[in-house]
Amino acid sequence: MPATWADRVSGMATDFRVFFSKRYPKNRWLRPLISACNFIIVRTNGDKFIEFELSNICNARCVFCPYPDMLRTDKKFMHMQKETLHKVKQVLQRKKRMMVSFTPTTGDTLLHPEWDVYMREILELDAINRATMFTNAIELDKDACERLIALIKADTKGKLSQLYFSVGGYDAQTYKALYQVDRFDKVIANIRYLIEQLKLRGLSIGIHVHIKLKTGDTENLSTAEALFNPVSYPFVYYSHSKQYFSNDGYTRNALLQYYPSEEMDTCKACAYLKKTRFAADGGVWADGCVISEMPGDSSLKLGQIDDDFAIIEMRREGIISDWENKGVKPLPCQGCTMYRA
Ligand code: SF4
Repeated sequence: MPATWADRVSGMATDFRVFFSKRYPKNRWLRPLISACNFIIVRTNGDKFIEFELSNICNARCVFCPYPDMLRTDKKFMHMQKETLHKVKQVLQRKKRMMVSFTPTTGDTLLHPEWDVYMREILELDAINRATMFTNAIELDKDACERLIALIKADTKGKLSQLYFSVGGYDAQTYKALYQVDRFDKVIANIRYLIEQLKLRGLSIGIHVHIKLKTGDTENLSTAEALFNPVSYPFVYYSHSKQYFSNDGYTRNALLQYYPSEEMDTCKACAYLKKTRFAADGGVWADGCVISEMPGDSSLKLGQIDDDFAIIEMRREGIISDWENKGVKPLPCQGCTMYRA
């Protein structure tokens, strides 16, 4: 579907979803219509959205993520400051109908001390019409759940319609092996509590539990439902990672199965280069995938938030042009199995 159509379809599904969600507490029969809207919204996100990195600090050490290697570089690890937020808002105010994903390339949004305040400021912008959030839920304790529910309630236009939770397997051993921290029980309790509260309060946000698996593990939806959603909240969806993305510079892990490096035609620059990431340190990047910032490399960095955005976009065009006209690919894109035409 062309990007402009996808954008309109997604915007319409968001509007319908708000309409149905407001009536849902007294009209539970609207559930399939809300689920249909969730389905459409998730599939029409497009390639061009904004990745908003409130923090590049993480509380896990996932074996599928370059973060542990980045810790050994001179990269600055920090939370986004108010000054950066306000500069990003000024840039976003000049745009229209943008989708924002509160998803750091590395890091976890909930580690920012004012994550809900920052998110609310972004959600209130007219230029933003859809938003999602991705977190490992380690910090999603009862206090954070209340802050998240307050944020959802304040978002009367229903822009934040989907929440994504990243979890390692169905047991503590698998979680520890994949995330390198002992947080399985805490994460299960956190997600479960949030889901219970959403059901209790008649809210209808989409909860996507993304379960990472090791080589040889099999997905089990009934185990997932028993773990995360014993209250049968109707807007919980599961997905699984059995294979992982990599590129030529990526440190592979023996526990994981990776997507094969297929011989595909990559003469066209990757569509994800149209995404923009506003990094916690004020950097602006052309990316949005977990492997697009390799340790010690900044070839997809377009500039700083203070730079003129015409120059930022010229740099993006330069990266795309070098790829398509000179065959020069940025380092993270070399051998990347996440490439999208
Ligand atoms: S080729 Fe890979 S690293 Fe490069 S932008 Fe696309 S998905 Fe990201």
